[in-house]
Amino acid sequence: MEDCIFCKIIKKEIPAKIVYEDENALAFLDVMPRSKGMCIVVPKKHYTDPSDDFETSSKIFDAALIVAEKIKKSLNPLGVFLSVIQTQIPHFHIRVYPVYQDQIPLFENRPQQTTEEELNSLAQKIKNENVEWKGRKEKIVEKIIEKGVEKQPEKEEENEQKNEENDFWFKRAEEMG
Ligand SMILES: [Zn+2]
Repeated sequence: MEDCIFCKIIKKEIPAKIVYEDENALAFLDVMPRSKGMCIVVPKKHYTDPSDDFETSSKIFDAALIVAEKIKKSLNPLGVFLSVIQTQIPHFHIRVYPVYQDQIPLFENRPQQTTEEELNSLAQKIKNENVEWKGRKEKIVEKIIEKGVEKQPEKEEENEQKNEENDFWFKRAEEMG
């Protein structure tokens, strides 16, 4: 999208204080934060509604969780809020807000006054914090067990219909892996 501000940030046409980047996602500081260190996580691909691309959206949620952990470790807030709300920017994004004793990031709040210097220092702190990701695979395995569709390879020819369902979950697990 030509006029999309997030697409311009992704293409590095507009400078941003980037705190995290991977194959699918980019996260940067909000320059008008409702709490200090508030970040925005976006897919590198332009789309508006999270349901427009399930696969990518779930990876963006992963990235948002990583960013939330990085914020927790580096800025030591009381907690972190995540929100997905449609705004005037038609590019799917997740907002990650640190919550401090004196800064509860509510929508009625005015943006916090933040200087360029302060933004740079916040971005640096969040960026430098390494977070190990170990969520996704375990989750998928849990789901397979819940559904009772864990299969043994030798049973494959016995029940075609059941296997179709099994294949779906195994394919999912593979894709996610
Ligand atoms: Zn865009």
